[in-house]
Amino acid sequence: MKIIFLGAPGSGKGTQSALLSKKLGIPAISTGDIIRGILKSGGDKAEVLKSYTENGKLVPDDLVIELLKSRLSNPDCSKGYILDGFPRTVAQAEALENMGIKIDTVIDINVEDDLICKRMLSRLVCPKCGSVFNSATEMKPKVQNICDNCGAELIQRKDDTEETIRTRLKVYKEQTLPLRNYYSSKKILKTVDGGAPISQSSAEVLSLVKN
Ligand code: ADP
Ligand code: ZN
Repeated sequence: MKIIFLGAPGSGKGTQSALLSKKLGIPAISTGDIIRGILKSGGDKAEVLKSYTENGKLVPDDLVIELLKSRLSNPDCSKGYILDGFPRTVAQAEALENMGIKIDTVIDINVEDDLICKRMLSRLVCPKCGSVFNSATEMKPKVQNICDNCGAELIQRKDDTEETIRTRLKVYKEQTLPLRNYYSSKKILKTVDGGAPISQSSAEVLSLVKN
């Protein structure tokens, strides 16, 4: 099974794909996480990547396609996978097709801009293990500012500032929204209300994937 999550930054793609990954037993692959991993470990690619991510811009297609290709060659992808944050441009979607990959379902998570901003400003991430929490949703950490998973102190993502959020939403509308038409014309697009509580959206996601 190969599934794509579409949706604006802050729409809950990451949360929903992690939940679905557990339920289906296939990996959730987030290009954002892959990129943050490279930023953390440093190296020559890190400087280039940082110049895009920290300004809310998309990383160039050829770079991110190369990163995804290498991740998909991992044996854990043999039974299928969930893509979170890829494709983000029509060129990236075409790259998947050119790799001979057939996507079963594309789930578009819809959330209003105001709610997106609010969520991103209250998002907290673990710098050590990558877990994501949110002080404004039911994903609050058990202890304020502490990772449930590993006990590290939570931080805000560098790109979760008001100005960068605005840029990311603009980039999303210009470059990623065209993918709705792209996949709806292939008759594999399904829509979920991402403004609902997480458990409700995830039940909706599961029922869409199973039908
Ligand atoms: P978001 O919360 O904006 O969905 P992600 O964690 O998915 O964030 O990605 C963080 C950043 O990494 C993006 O703003 C972008 O710079 C870069 N990035 C991630 N995936 C892609 C992609 N498929 N194409 C280009 N850039 C990407
Ligand atoms: Zn942690």
